[in-house]
Amino acid sequence: MKTAVIGAGIAGLAAAVRLAAAGHSVDVYEAADGPGGKLSQFSLPGGYRFDFGPSLFTMPQYVDELFELAGEDPRDHFNYVRLDEVCRYWWPDGTRFVAPAATDELVREAARTFDVSEAALRAFMETAARKYELTGRTFLEKSLHKLGTWLDPQVAYAMLKIPGLDLFRSMHEVHEAALGDPRLVQLFDRFATYNGSNPYKAPGLLSMIPHFEHHFGAYLPTGGMYDIAESVYEVGRRLGVRYHFNRRVDRINRAGTQVQGIRLGAENIGYDTVVCNMDVWLAYDRLLPGARRPERTLRQQKSTSAVIFYWGVDRAFPELGLHNIFFSRDYASEFSHLESGELSDDVTIYVNVSSKQVPGDAPPGQENWFVMVNAPAHTGQDWPAMTRKLRQTVIAVLGRHLAPASAPNTLERHIRAERIVRPPDIETLTGSHQGALYGSSSNNRMAAFLRHPNFSREIDGLYFLGGSVHPGGGVPLCLLSARIVGEMVPNP
Ligand code: FAD
Repeated sequence: MKTAVIGAGIAGLAAAVRLAAAGHSVDVYEAADGPGGKLSQFSLPGGYRFDFGPSLFTMPQYVDELFELAGEDPRDHFNYVRLDEVCRYWWPDGTRFVAPAATDELVREAARTFDVSEAALRAFMETAARKYELTGRTFLEKSLHKLGTWLDPQVAYAMLKIPGLDLFRSMHEVHEAALGDPRLVQLFDRFATYNGSNPYKAPGLLSMIPHFEHHFGAYLPTGGMYDIAESVYEVGRRLGVRYHFNRRVDRINRAGTQVQGIRLGAENIGYDTVVCNMDVWLAYDRLLPGARRPERTLRQQKSTSAVIFYWGVDRAFPELGLHNIFFSRDYASEFSHLESGELSDDVTIYVNVSSKQVPGDAPPGQENWFVMVNAPAHTGQDWPAMTRKLRQTVIAVLGRHLAPASAPNTLERHIRAERIVRPPDIETLTGSHQGALYGSSSNNRMAAFLRHPNFSREIDGLYFLGGSVHPGGGVPLCLLSARIVGEMVPNP
């Protein structure tokens, strides 16, 4: 059975492995010059390596299972470390908190730092675990668009429990009621941004997200995040997958309701199955011009995008860890700005320094900073002007926290190499509509049901996966979308 995969993002790479392991003859077509999509890498002069996008790795077992499908031991090809400390948090009032990975330690340390009891925080984390156990399998690991899912007794049980799972309160309301201390509320509200959502709108059910990080753990591949894409690409090669880089697909061909193959330029190539890892909005727009568009699905609010400063820094900052968050003063106002398509003057800044764990990522005594600020999806804003102002704000805030009090303005002098990526760049470089990092947002309680299914309702043999469709964005969910598609596509 001949199968084409459009796009070598992590979901496309994973699907290629699954289908090749099941006996398909698989070709992957990728517009860029290498694998990974948002999970790619690049270097800056001076010896600094950067992961382009993701920096936080959870649920590594979803990568491991791809090697196992190929009959390989994952540890022979792909390795990672579990982090003891998941993030360093900094507040404008001077509060600092280093979040331990283990839930018990997190509870103990947080009760020492914040105005919260151990009992209240433990109860909150237990509720997060319960939310995941009740709904994770249903909402993340299965298609929500197949009758079989709804006939499963476990799913029926989860549906009965949903009214008690905070679908009718926002994440922020849940956190405020459970945790009280505004700093801790802000810390947990930030988990909404893990899928590009707004904690003041996203349903409280999503307060299960910290359970992933603190129960299942946070990890880093030993060579950095790009290891994930590269090793999945390599296992596909060993299974005989053919990869075609610098090949942009222009059309998905069909005969009536049956997929027929793809078109690249003037060339038509026949396939029995086509698996589309391209952003679903752009796929309907560009590859499926005559198809019936699922308008309600495609109109869903986009997730946030980002402005990223990649800096080669010529000294080490011991105060920083691998993951660092510098919170804004007014989180609610920051999100109202994002909702209006703007950037606040008072932003939360994420700094990832992979060279803390991967020494080759920067020269000795230096660091590679990935500095990211959440930004609205690209709808034609004046990004050069917004970014100029943002850069000054970011340098001022980081300088206040990190430079010695006697010399707060010295941070900029340490930036030896720089690349800036804005939402329109993310759109162009990764083929992501409006530069959204995670497809559509989860800013309403129906969001899970309004993502595009993993198959076409109109064209037999056409499947969709990746961050813009069910179950959503982020590396683990993209890997699950590949698993769902792998289970749906008939075996040869
Ligand atoms: P994508 O990575 O979107 O790739 C799609 C591929 O399809 C691209 O390579 C594109 O070139 C190709 N393509 C598009 N159109 C065509 C065509 N017509 N023909 C051929 N090829 C085509 N997730 C996490 O889990 N943790 C994080 O910490 C995290 N942080 C992030 C930070 C940033 C800055 C970004 C950008 C993303 C982040 N994410 C994170 C999200 C995560 O990167 C994505 O959800 C995931 O990588 C998307 O994978 P995908 O399979 O949907 O494909």
